Amino acid sequence: MLTAKERQGRRLRAVLDAILHDVSARRDYGALADYIAPLGRIDPRKFGIAVATRDGRVFAAGDADEPFSIQSISKVFALTLALGKVGDALWERVGQEPSGNRFNSIVQLEYESGVPRNPFINAGAIVVCDVLLAGHEPKEALGETLRFLRFLADDGGVFIDSGVAVAEKAGGFRNVALANFMMACGNLLHPPELALGVYFHQCAVAMSCRQLALAGRYLAFGGVHPSTGRSVVSPQRARRVNALMLTCGHYDGSGDFAFHVGVPGKSGVGGGILAVIPGVASVAVWSPGLNEYGNSKFGTAALQSLTTEMNWSVFG
Ligand code: GLN
Repeated sequence: MLTAKERQGRRLRAVLDAILHDVSARRDYGALADYIAPLGRIDPRKFGIAVATRDGRVFAAGDADEPFSIQSISKVFALTLALGKVGDALWERVGQEPSGNRFNSIVQLEYESGVPRNPFINAGAIVVCDVLLAGHEPKEALGETLRFLRFLADDGGVFIDSGVAVAEKAGGFRNVALANFMMACGNLLHPPELALGVYFHQCAVAMSCRQLALAGRYLAFGGVHPSTGRSVVSPQRARRVNALMLTCGHYDGSGDFAFHVGVPGKSGVGGGILAVIPGVASVAVWSPGLNEYGNSKFGTAALQSLTTEMNWSVFG
């Protein structure tokens, strides 16, 4: 007679194997984010997935141990740190509404006087980086983010890919425009190049699906880091970050993701997605090809299969 834990483990193993099998047969990968040169050179056939469950196990398949550029997934961790520093005062500088626009849209920012709609679009994340800079040199702010990620993932191997950071800076003209405009509106407290330096390097953090799934556990388990039992954030704050992930984590594709996948998620243009199944699991998936919203195409499809097969949803 199998225990519930053994049953869940077997089921999860079978579902992940089936997902890997399905993905391997597909060739319609989507587009690489070649506006950041090194991301345009990644093999689009790469695919990894990892699921960290409540009891401390990690189920993985494919290239789950290969580091990739987490890009905007870093915005979840930066937001967590910024809320720890300034609490709800953050919401005077960044909103909590879905933008309905692309992640690097400029037009809405002018209409809304330099206050970004949410912390997950680029403009909002640049404000969050400005908050992390308070009292710090950019290097120290980044060091703090990196230490936080290593702690969350129980893994000292998380690193910043400096080649990606350099490429981001070289081609980051839209982000420069967003930061300069917010400076003009008084919504940056540090020189734009400093906030951008933190932003570009945080987007260039490289992690594997396994590391990322482990790092996301505090969001799935009431704000607690399961391996140490330490509280990372209050349960209420974990819920709020999850709410923002659900409503804003996939930019103008957030409604689509909520409809098809049904759980909070945050994507990055490196092709990664972190998904949170509250009380059950933290999941990371990676497939570099992107859909029309700039979110991982197969990553989204894989999460849809996973949540459907496992009957996971925040909607009942
Ligand atoms: N670094 C990327 C950019 O600024 C992040 C975008 C993303 O992952 N959606 O364009």
